Amino acid sequence: MVATKAPEDAYSAEPFVPSRGGLVALRKAAAECRGCPLHRDATQTVFGAGDTDARVMLVGEQPGDQEDRQGKPFVGPAGKLLDRALEEAGIDPSEAYVTNAVKHFKFTQAEPRKRRIHKAPNLREMTACGPWLAAELAVVEPELIVVLGATAGKALLGSSFRVTQVRGTVLEEEIHGRPERLVPTVHPSSVLRSDDRDAAYRGLVSDLRVAADALS
Ligand code: SF4
Repeated sequence: MVATKAPEDAYSAEPFVPSRGGLVALRKAAAECRGCPLHRDATQTVFGAGDTDARVMLVGEQPGDQEDRQGKPFVGPAGKLLDRALEEAGIDPSEAYVTNAVKHFKFTQAEPRKRRIHKAPNLREMTACGPWLAAELAVVEPELIVVLGATAGKALLGSSFRVTQVRGTVLEEEIHGRPERLVPTVHPSSVLRSDDRDAAYRGLVSDLRVAADALS
């Protein structure tokens, strides 16, 4: 018998999200998520990290190579740069909750044992993973969301989101049925890729200062 493939618009994490419990229950359940095909090639689910009472939630795109191997968000080079920028802007990284719009690493690989190249998640994958982000927001109830890059922005604010148009401003929007304040900025990995890394880094810190002011 030939196995039939589920239609792509049927992808959703919803059936895997527990209706009760805090971050520990969510993290445990997310480890078993099969809501879209991205779990197949990734090493593990990379759920958010931080405390329930964090005042700020940082939302990135998806785990990278190091995050996929270690099972923790923002532990690679981009995460280290982000920590430095947060400290410089006046936000203690250890007091933030960090997560991604998509919880599994999506990549391409020319051959086994070759380097895994990051591939951006598509809209269906972002939408499928949305229930995990909604659950994190409902438990943490942050005072502010820092949106890191275009993919996180599209996942939270819709496909018309353009980071260049709204970065460094405080937005007030309804997200997953809740009124939220958000400050968008670039993803720290874009700073690492920039031709003018110093200028890109200063831009990131400047946007994060807006977030720090909004929290004070
Ligand atoms: S990317 Fe999200 S929806 Fe897809 S399998 Fe992973 S946790 Fe589930």
